[in-house]
Amino acid sequence: MAENSFKYVIVGGGVAAGYAAREFTKQGVKSGELAIISKEGVAPYERPALSKAYLFPEGTARLPGFHVCVGSGGERLLPEWYTEKGISLILNTEIVKADLASKTLISAAGETFKYQILIVATGSTVIRLTDFGVEGADAKNIFYLREIDDADKLVEAIKTKKNGKALIVGGGYIGLELSAALRMNNIDVCMVYPEPWCMPRLFTAGIASFYESYYANKGIDIIKGTVAVGFGKNENGEVVDVKLKDGRVIEADIVVVGVGGRPLTTLVKGQVEEEKGGIKTDAFFKTSSPDVYAVGDVATFPLKLFNEQRRVEHVDHARKSAEQAVKAIFASEQGTSIEEYDYLPYFYSRAFDLSWQFYGDNVGETVLFGDNSPTSETHKFGTYWIKDGKVVGVFLESGTPEENKAIAKLARVQPLVNNLDQLAAEGLAFASNI
Ligand code: FAD
Repeated sequence: MAENSFKYVIVGGGVAAGYAAREFTKQGVKSGELAIISKEGVAPYERPALSKAYLFPEGTARLPGFHVCVGSGGERLLPEWYTEKGISLILNTEIVKADLASKTLISAAGETFKYQILIVATGSTVIRLTDFGVEGADAKNIFYLREIDDADKLVEAIKTKKNGKALIVGGGYIGLELSAALRMNNIDVCMVYPEPWCMPRLFTAGIASFYESYYANKGIDIIKGTVAVGFGKNENGEVVDVKLKDGRVIEADIVVVGVGGRPLTTLVKGQVEEEKGGIKTDAFFKTSSPDVYAVGDVATFPLKLFNEQRRVEHVDHARKSAEQAVKAIFASEQGTSIEEYDYLPYFYSRAFDLSWQFYGDNVGETVLFGDNSPTSETHKFGTYWIKDGKVVGVFLESGTPEENKAIAKLARVQPLVNNLDQLAAEGLAFASNI
């Protein structure tokens, strides 16, 4: 094939791309057939590390330590691995145009790439306060976290603003993980979010009250029910304070904003069907355009278990959707078929000495179990979600590997329950006995 022409091209070099590359080799891809084109300057890595061990003062994670596929217990794919397998890793290259009709991609530098089969794995981008014209939001030392370059800038600021003050905008998992990481670096941390409790998209009030008290005990201030409406700067253009909507002004020399993301679908906009903000795919991650697949954060796929189309922005799905798409590509080339994607939603987070896992769906009535007192020694507690008499979702803090396996099984089996008081009394034992 001519230079810059590949049988398979993956646009985006994140989690999904890395797991797809491993699956391509398992399926017998030949040298020279596959290219990964990435805006980032490094080989695919486990992105969740950026808001966790990458920022720790001790036991810090650095590349090549967390290249895929270590996050799921697999072998690390170092840059040399791609060379050995004849996979072209085209880094520092942003694709700015995709013409699906002519199967052509064009980079920001004007290079052209041709493909036969395309996998879109561009992930998400962060929502910025500058997008809403928030006053002073362009000040220095206001950070966002999506890619390794963002994390490096934050690490630098942690060093230069030693023992400084940080304000975290947003109470989602990024806000919670970053608050913990900055606090561990001996920085004074204040979190601000508009909702009545943290992580409202998943947490119930009962779950959140544990984390909010735990954070308060670690010395983190939490201001709820208001938002940042402006930032003050000094003569060097560095942020010095944050104005809140309720009139308060909070001093800060580091600000980290974690107010959500948006899937990067622009490249193929108008050329493929979209749904729920993502690229619509079937159960094999095939889009409405021939020979184009979409995986990871950008895909809106059929979630068989709940019988609806969903988009999932979590690492486990990025890994599994990528593997499914590659298996489907090879099956279709060989005229065989594979099973439909049958995903059980799984999210997790870690901060301080805490670690939670969630499986299933967070809809319906809830039952809190265990000890969610912030001063509890074990802080092992959880919540069941019950819909139409069945347990459809389970959350567990501080579970052992066996207990986490048990809650995953429970969310998959969706057992019937008829007495919620009894379920609360049984607690984790209910899951362990399934
Ligand atoms: P990504 O991993 O984001 O990869 C997309 C890649 O595409 C990037 O390299 C990007 O530079 C590149 N790209 C984008 N556009 C272009 C273009 N036009 N041309 C070339 N390249 C392009 N999930 C969890 O379940 N648990 C966690 O604890 C957790 N922690 C996280 C912490 C952080 C800081 C972040 C940012 C995310 C976290 N996530 C977590 C979410 C998880 O990392 C994502 O769901 C996952 O990375 C999605 O994989 P992806 O391959 O779709 O996208």
